[in-house]
Amino acid sequence: QYVWAHDQLTPQEEAGVHLQDRGYYFGDGIYEVIRLYDGKPFLWDEHFERFARSAAELDLPFPKPLEHIMQDMLTLIEANHVHNGIIYLQMTRGVQERNHLYSRDMIPVITAFTKEEDVPSHLQEEGITLWAVEDIRWLRCDIKTINLLGNVMAKRSAEDNGCHEALLHRGHTVTEGSSTNVFMVQNGVIYTHPADNYILKGITRQFIQKLCIEKGIPFEETAFTLEDLQDADELFIASTSHEIVPVNHVSGTMEKTLPSRSLTDQLQQSFQERKLS
Ligand code: PMP
Repeated sequence: QYVWAHDQLTPQEEAGVHLQDRGYYFGDGIYEVIRLYDGKPFLWDEHFERFARSAAELDLPFPKPLEHIMQDMLTLIEANHVHNGIIYLQMTRGVQERNHLYSRDMIPVITAFTKEEDVPSHLQEEGITLWAVEDIRWLRCDIKTINLLGNVMAKRSAEDNGCHEALLHRGHTVTEGSSTNVFMVQNGVIYTHPADNYILKGITRQFIQKLCIEKGIPFEETAFTLEDLQDADELFIASTSHEIVPVNHVSGTMEKTLPSRSLTDQLQQSFQERKLS
């Protein structure tokens, strides 16, 4: 297995990172996770568009043109013969003696790995439980930064309470999951938090929105509250690694059993048809 490090294909055991990388000191970097189906990257350009946006928002320059970085990542995928799995790539600001003030003359450090990983079809069939917990993250959740402590703590608390994923809410407003977007179905309408600074604008979320428009399913980028959720018919989460997964039950700061999953089933089916086409 190769990884991408030192600006080239590198055998995993030979790859190293510098102790003074700002990724270590400050979580000063960004990342993407992209799926591969039958060896083909899914929503490739969309992921790199978001990568570029995250970089721009953090005043992170690319060390080489984005198209060259994309080509490097394809080289890694080919070298590792990834069939069904993911590629993870990250870019940190680079190496500098520890100082909150970053200088602008550093060369950002890009690393990447691939992994064979099947989609979690058991979760997609059986559904999951969510743990509702206050969203304590910073106010730029739209940037896909590697600085993920709020997400990490929420995920742990979900697992510790026997749930698969967290349901984050700021006050009464539901934002998203620890690594997923969240969608509520009520009277045939899908609701999800608007893509503002409080959530990550998921690439899967974007794809689902497109599917809904094609199929004439009402899709509202309107935030919903914990109280709204009490009257929900369905709830599902979505992300690159999960695709679409129905929620059976929510506990934590609220308690709710979801009675249905018919629209979720329909979207799951369209997703499966479209991801290979
Ligand atoms: N929200 C958060 C906080 C995430 O970490 C992720 C996954 N990276 C998502 C939503 C889903 O995004 P995507 O569909 O692009 O994987």
